[in-house]
Amino acid sequence: ASPLQPEASVEELAFEGALRPETLAEFVGQPRVRGQLELLLKAAALQQRAPDHILLAGPPGLGKTTLAMIIGNESGRAVRMASGPAIQHAGDLAAVLSALVPGEVLFVDEIHRMAKSAEEMLYLAMEDFRIDIMVGKGAGAASVPLELSPFTLVAATTRSGMLPAPLRDRFGFTAHLEFYSAEDLTRVVTRSAGMLDIQLTSAAAAELAKRSRGTPRIANRLLRRVRDWKLVHEGSSDIEAVHGALELYDVDAYGLDRLDRSVLEAIAKSFKGGPVGLTTLAASVGEEAETIESVVEPYLVREGLLARTPRGRMLTSEGLRHTGIDGSPDQLD
Ligand code: ADP
Repeated sequence: ASPLQPEASVEELAFEGALRPETLAEFVGQPRVRGQLELLLKAAALQQRAPDHILLAGPPGLGKTTLAMIIGNESGRAVRMASGPAIQHAGDLAAVLSALVPGEVLFVDEIHRMAKSAEEMLYLAMEDFRIDIMVGKGAGAASVPLELSPFTLVAATTRSGMLPAPLRDRFGFTAHLEFYSAEDLTRVVTRSAGMLDIQLTSAAAAELAKRSRGTPRIANRLLRRVRDWKLVHEGSSDIEAVHGALELYDVDAYGLDRLDRSVLEAIAKSFKGGPVGLTTLAASVGEEAETIESVVEPYLVREGLLARTPRGRMLTSEGLRHTGIDGSPDQLD
């Protein structure tokens, strides 16, 4: 996997598990979300009830799964894991829901990819802790109600806009995770380096953080490559190791990766700076529209390199400058 791909690879999961903060206090950054969750969990504990259903929204690698585990931990509840793409029929969801033990937290990752038929079952389950199961076919078919144990649904999505309103409305609280500031990411890097026994100067940690796309998962991943660099190039300074690893993995001064840059370049060269529609843009760089929309764009927009307009995506003047192509009409042709 490219070090900037924000999704976790299989070999990475064990490593990520080891670095995962276990309490809200250990969770770096996102002060607003942390405060909101703390209030919600404390109120539920005082009333000795299950916390409300919680939706965690934001790009990959920002800590949604980590927060789901923390919610379980802080409220003293076991967490069951499920994922949207694995729920292809209402029956898949019925199996998950009916196996819940009272008070458990059910974590559903990528809930926007769950089957439509399961969505409707989930409405009833979230509201009344009850589902209707269809048994039999044709004229003999009947709907059988099934009582569920009370549970707290914690769902994660990279695309909250894609969830139908009736589903969104059933969450007591939606947490919007933001990209991390360089300061907060420096704390993530320093914390991880300490846990992995990697010596790193604070200047090197800050430089690594600055170029990690605002994403803890990427910061941790690049940190491992810096460790490798230090191991292989004995005697190199920390800052040399950071620069060496970043260059090798094609991370530029903004922390942009090759796909980020090819999106900017495509808009500049093929679409004269935009506006261009999402599907056209995705096709021109050979990526899925969903990846462009949920992974690439949010960061480019937040860095002020790209703008979303009603007519499509456009480069900002900063974005154009980043491509190194000047804005004169003959260069754009
Ligand atoms: P998501 O579910 O949003 O894709 P994860 O929760 O899996 O992201 O986070 C990816 C990795 O980044 C985790 O293993 C964790 O170690 C690290 N991480 C995420 N958020 C934080 C944070 N706020 N503080 C420290 N580490 C974090």
